[in-house]
Amino acid sequence: MNAHVATMPAHKDPAEASVGRGTTLYLRALRLRCPHCGEGHIKGSWMKMKRNCPVCGLRTERGEEDFFLGAMMFNLVLAEFLVVLAVVGATIALWPDVPWNVLTWVSLGLAMIAPFLFYPFGHAIWLASDILIRPVSGEEMEWHRTHGPDEHRKHRDR
Ligand SMILES: [Zn+2]
Repeated sequence: MNAHVATMPAHKDPAEASVGRGTTLYLRALRLRCPHCGEGHIKGSWMKMKRNCPVCGLRTERGEEDFFLGAMMFNLVLAEFLVVLAVVGATIALWPDVPWNVLTWVSLGLAMIAPFLFYPFGHAIWLASDILIRPVSGEEMEWHRTHGPDEHRKHRDR
């Protein structure tokens, strides 16, 4: 049954491998685990991520000053995009008897609470995307483990 698998070349297609890696990273993020090791819980309280992964020590802002800002912006865009999708979905589902007044108020309410509801996921997905684009090196992990919470890493490209 698996005969065709055995004839496949041993090396993986790089694009396929990165899709697999991306899936792993995002699945870990959606479970609010550290995208790097998949073990540590990175959510502290709802609106605050832990500073470090308790298992591998990866810092949830990767030691970068503007990482948090990026995570906040991404979360806002993601949350509002999901609200728009929900509103469009509701409009299509209820067509042609769309209760516009109700829908307007519900969508306004959702637009306000969605960024808070999605916050931990937004941050974790942002971190997963960052790791996907710029894999964590051993050297960087060493930095995460040895540097103080108030120290920030310099961007290599600055
Ligand atoms: Zn970890």
